[in-house]
Amino acid sequence: MTALPPLPYETPATEHDLEVMRGQLGRDMRGVVSIARRCGCGRPAVVRTSPRLEDGTPFPTSLYLTLPWLTLDISRIEATGTMADLTERLAADEELAAGYQRAHERYLARRAEIGDAEEVRHVSAGGMPTRVKCLHAVAGQALAEGPGINPVADEVLATIDGVLPELVCRCDADVDGTAELHATTQETAGTGEGR
Ligand SMILES: [Zn+2]
Repeated sequence: MTALPPLPYETPATEHDLEVMRGQLGRDMRGVVSIARRCGCGRPAVVRTSPRLEDGTPFPTSLYLTLPWLTLDISRIEATGTMADLTERLAADEELAAGYQRAHERYLARRAEIGDAEEVRHVSAGGMPTRVKCLHAVAGQALAEGPGINPVADEVLATIDGVLPELVCRCDADVDGTAELHATTQETAGTGEGR
């Protein structure tokens, strides 16, 4: 396998980052490898996590969105039925489908850089490669890898102000109660189970 280019925004995770993520998520983030993308203010936005957690649990979502305000914006987009529309378009649009398939393969290759969990070896995240089941998970990949890797996520992120090309901080916005919502969707959407 040819080595991938480095993740363009990846930086080490500090003790302070772990503390900030605890506040973002309302719990400890497990399996932290690095910070794959940061908000404009420097807080973690996407955390890179090990495909197998400390307790042995497989964890396919290895690029995990933690940033509360962006999580809320994406949850609002999910609530409008965008995922069903995108999934229908994937069935009809060969170019979009091919790009999404490549994004799936990139996800697996990127995750393989940091470990292996055989239970999820062929499972990426967010419903890839044929469905769109969690926009948080696909957005996590797009934010970590930069534009041009996940066409579905790029399209969604382009509809949110202040996300492309750079994340402009909105951490002072009121986002109570959203972290739990996105935590559940990101962790289950890649497993192939319908909801
Ligand atoms: Zn911020």
